[in-house]
Amino acid sequence: MSLIVQKYGGSSVADAESVKRVARRIVDTKKAGHQVVVVVSAMGDTTDELLDLAEQVSPLPPARELDMLLTAGERISMAVLAMAIHDLGAEARSYTGSQAGLITDSAHGAARIIDVTPGRIQEALDSGAIPIVAGFQGVAQDTKDITTLGRGGSDTTAVALAAALNAEVCEIYTDVDGVFSADPRVVPAARQVPQITYEEMLELAAVGAKVLHLRCVEYARRFDLPIHVRSSFSDRTGTLVLSPEAIQAAIAEGTAMEQPIISGVAADVNDAKITVVSVPDQPGRAASIFRTLADANINLDMIVQNVSLASTGRTDVTFTCPQGSAAAAMQALDAKRDQIGYEDLLVDDQVAKVSLVGAGMRSHPGVSATFFDALAEAGINVEMISTSEIRISVVTRVDDAKKAVQALHTAFGLDADGEAVVYAGTGR
Ligand code: ADP
Ligand code: ASP
Ligand code: MG
Repeated sequence: MSLIVQKYGGSSVADAESVKRVARRIVDTKKAGHQVVVVVSAMGDTTDELLDLAEQVSPLPPARELDMLLTAGERISMAVLAMAIHDLGAEARSYTGSQAGLITDSAHGAARIIDVTPGRIQEALDSGAIPIVAGFQGVAQDTKDITTLGRGGSDTTAVALAAALNAEVCEIYTDVDGVFSADPRVVPAARQVPQITYEEMLELAAVGAKVLHLRCVEYARRFDLPIHVRSSFSDRTGTLVLSPEAIQAAIAEGTAMEQPIISGVAADVNDAKITVVSVPDQPGRAASIFRTLADANINLDMIVQNVSLASTGRTDVTFTCPQGSAAAAMQALDAKRDQIGYEDLLVDDQVAKVSLVGAGMRSHPGVSATFFDALAEAGINVEMISTSEIRISVVTRVDDAKKAVQALHTAFGLDADGEAVVYAGTGR
């Protein structure tokens, strides 16, 4: 008997009717002869509503208490889903992340899973029950406090449990039919991708395609665990996230098509751009900027240093970081102003990062030329550029992001004939 882990996102369990629909899907999977473990997210936009509530109570709530509050959302959905399954005559038992053995570090709001000990989940399975696990949460190994894994983290709960339980596949049920060549809410002509490698999916998730949580893809790659992203609102086959070897084998068997050069386009509007103006062009200055930021725990993304002006011997250093860290980055740099010796600090949160991802870039010349031609034709100014082997990213004005994604999607021939279906969700 094969074991399947199924994860249902917030829009799939947004109200009582949806919870009952998902319950039927789970019971049907069990009746088809599989063992099922379910991971569930908070109903609809509950997590955002809890965050709004916290903000009304306190502008800077203690991270421990914020995590305790947010995990309540998943507790509600796991309990009501178990009730709906009971009503269909099957046995289901709900478990918090802590009860399910999701052990994390103590980084509240962005905890990392360091161990999975799913003893109680295995017991439930052995007794014929369907375990329902609250996604996005765990318990810190050292402090024993309740933690959360970061927004979208239920995907990671599901993949971590699937790996620990040796599941055959981890199914991620959401409100679109799979992974698309762009966010279908932004590009209606987005095309569904039948299969994608872990590597390409990692890049797409890292640059803003929120359909999968970045760490869930990292986890799946480490354990070579197939992920099947699909809709809970239809029976269509979704997108398989696999190793390149598995995809090559499927192509050889004739069950998969050749991989396209470009897999997708994505935009991230949650970054800020900070410029350290007029830094002395001397050894050690960049080191002291980035040491200062590292000590303040700031995650950097792109970094650019301008060519210095011979007349002044000074240069500007610009970097991007998550908007939520910008204030802390400015504060940390301000405290080291004399040591670094810069003249001014500028912050800009009206920026977007627009990226193109595709493994075919490695072996196809001309991708950059098409990329920059498309942006130029759309009249979009490029402020920063960074690349990896399989990705090109640029920083643009935030108001240009949608236009840039659409222009690139068309320029690389990704537009489909029909319109992608978005079944539910508010896109929040
Ligand atoms: P869930 O609540 O099921 O976890 P999410 O909102 O986290 O759902 O993720 C699904 C959403 O991701 C889709 O509704 C879509 O708007 C967005 N999305 C962004 N980029 C992509 C992409 N490349 N392919 C599919 N969906 C995408
Ligand atoms: N409910 C959490 C969130 O909205 C976790 C998740 O949905 O994966 O981020
Ligand atoms: Mg999600």
